[in-house]
Amino acid sequence: AIMPTLLSGIANGARQGILFKNGAQLEKIGKVRAIAFDKTGTLTTGQLQISQVIAVSEYSQADVLKAAAALESSSEHPIGKAIVQAANDLDWVRGVEVQAIPGQGITGIVNNQKVIVGKVAFIQQHLTQLPEELLDLAQSLEQEGKTVVWVAQAEQVMGAIAIADTIRTEAVASITRLRKLGIAEIVMITGDNQRTADSVAQAVGISRVYAELLPEDKLDVIRSLQKQYQTVAMVGDGINDAPALAQASVGIAMGVAGSDVALETADVVLMADKLEKIATAIKLGRRSQSIVK
Ligand code: ADP
Ligand code: MG
Repeated sequence: AIMPTLLSGIANGARQGILFKNGAQLEKIGKVRAIAFDKTGTLTTGQLQISQVIAVSEYSQADVLKAAAALESSSEHPIGKAIVQAANDLDWVRGVEVQAIPGQGITGIVNNQKVIVGKVAFIQQHLTQLPEELLDLAQSLEQEGKTVVWVAQAEQVMGAIAIADTIRTEAVASITRLRKLGIAEIVMITGDNQRTADSVAQAVGISRVYAELLPEDKLDVIRSLQKQYQTVAMVGDGINDAPALAQASVGIAMGVAGSDVALETADVVLMADKLEKIATAIKLGRRSQSIVK
């Protein structure tokens, strides 16, 4: 039977918007020594805004947005949602044979042409020659913390879309709180590129950044943190975070921004996406241990 102290800890968490799926997780979170944070949708709101559309060769900005929206209308990725919203007033048709590749991008057929949308490395898997000026421009946008998504059609680059995210207002204070609790290591793990990741990490006060990770790579980072710190928490929201959330000693999902898979996989859910509740959860966990012993 579940200990009354655990039950009161769980009830206490629930009142503060922290959902523990079971009592064992309440105890375990008290022992956490390292925490890995996803970036998009976790440290940031994930409510992305298109800040710039760049078209190359014969294409217009509208062409770029329309081709991207045709595929992204089938995606539940925050990038996809932002692109579809930006293309709202344009006339486009939904693509067919659409395939989303987690952590990479999306492909499909639009007007009988193969369209590819995604990170530069993903475009490079399909296309070798990328316009030099666009590579340079993309790099400088990434240094500003923007995510740049490339759009190609029929083996030709059409352009790119720069997307801006917003860091959650409580992110800095939440990280500070966790350090004050004595958490030994706090890292960021993201599928986004290194420049964008570094810019966000610096803004929130995280110095160790693992970027350009595929979902399995995120899992590997958790595993290596576990070798060093034993009890490791992972905080994430996306489908791409699910393997890492499952591997972590304590998987923590964002309740509002979180995808269904993330919510199902996690042990703890932050009901209102409030990052400062992670420190609260750790305190509750520590208290439950000291009472039990
Ligand atoms: P994060 O770890 O920051 O949540 P993801 O792993 O979901 O990011 O994605 C990593 C990168 O892959 C994105 O920054 C983007 O460049 C690309 N990407 C992933 N999904 C899509 C998509 N649906 N459309 C376009 N690009 C995508
Ligand atoms: Mg995410």
